[in-house]
Amino acid sequence: MKYLVVGAGFAGAVYARELAEAGHEVDVIDSRYHIGGNAYDYVNGKGIRIHKYGPHIFHTSNMKVVEWLSKFTDWVEHKHKVLAKHTDGNFYVLPPNRDTVERIGKDNIIDVFFRPYTKKMWDKEIEELNPKILERVPIRDDDNELYFPNDDFQKMPAEGYTALFMRIFDHENITVKLNCTFDKTMEDDYDHVFNSMPIDQYYDYEFGELPYRSIKFETFTLPERQVYKAATTNFTTYDGPTRVTEWKNFPNHGDNPLATTLTYEYPCDYKDNNMERYYPVKDIEGVNAEIYEKYLTLENPKVTFIGRCGTYQYLDMHQVINQSLISVRKFLGN
Ligand code: UDP
Repeated sequence: MKYLVVGAGFAGAVYARELAEAGHEVDVIDSRYHIGGNAYDYVNGKGIRIHKYGPHIFHTSNMKVVEWLSKFTDWVEHKHKVLAKHTDGNFYVLPPNRDTVERIGKDNIIDVFFRPYTKKMWDKEIEELNPKILERVPIRDDDNELYFPNDDFQKMPAEGYTALFMRIFDHENITVKLNCTFDKTMEDDYDHVFNSMPIDQYYDYEFGELPYRSIKFETFTLPERQVYKAATTNFTTYDGPTRVTEWKNFPNHGDNPLATTLTYEYPCDYKDNNMERYYPVKDIEGVNAEIYEKYLTLENPKVTFIGRCGTYQYLDMHQVINQSLISVRKFLGN
């Protein structure tokens, strides 16, 4: 069979590789100039690895996902820690642990660490959002300092994400075409299409638009060895960036003693950022989920929608890989 995969991010990569290994011919297209979707990384002129679309920190307890990825990458240990820089000038462990709670006071935790950040991130109050979003950062009463305390496997691809994607796509049955925008007439040339584009855009917004948050990134290189202690530092202010990543604080991201590169994040509506869709918006009433459900009712036997934008879910990398592995294997009858 001949298949088209639209989007060279994690969902597309898993589909392409599994279909190719099953003996099918796979074309992968992406409108961007690079593979890897939002996990794409590159090394800058100072020898420091940057994730172009913000920090991607791999963590999971799903060993099937780890096993699959390990065919294409070695790993380097990274147990992620996040500090919040507060307006009092001090740094606090996030998610709030016993020390954070003691120093800030239990009753102030939400107003200090969650209310302003969430307003900047989503342009919504906490009460307007599905609680699952904040449950990603659970407050705790122990001394654990990890951002993902419950995940068994916390490592980064040793040579970065782009190198990992290159190996996934390196198969004789896979052809990757970059700078190539999908158009529906392409479907005629294939037996089936796996499409990670936004489902509302595919259907010309027939049932309305699905909102997304986006991020504008500001990246600076300073002539200093190190500015922040943590790889990511969040800010508790209502204005300004949500967080900053100091790239060399991740392992294998460059160790130039004379320079450090920092990326600050400024969330915005995707329409204010060249239609770059990063985060599906889970509102408390489920209005957006209802719109998405309407698109699902449209019969389209030739197309399967995949990934964050195709399925309108706020998914981490390991979740995208897991879902994609399960569904492509089902498609293949395995
Ligand atoms: N959050 C917050 N303060 C923080 C960190 C996170 O209020 O310092 C909230 C915010 O609403 C955010 C959500 O928790 O969107 C999930 O945070 P996470 O760090 O998981 O977001 P991601 O890394 O996916 O952007």
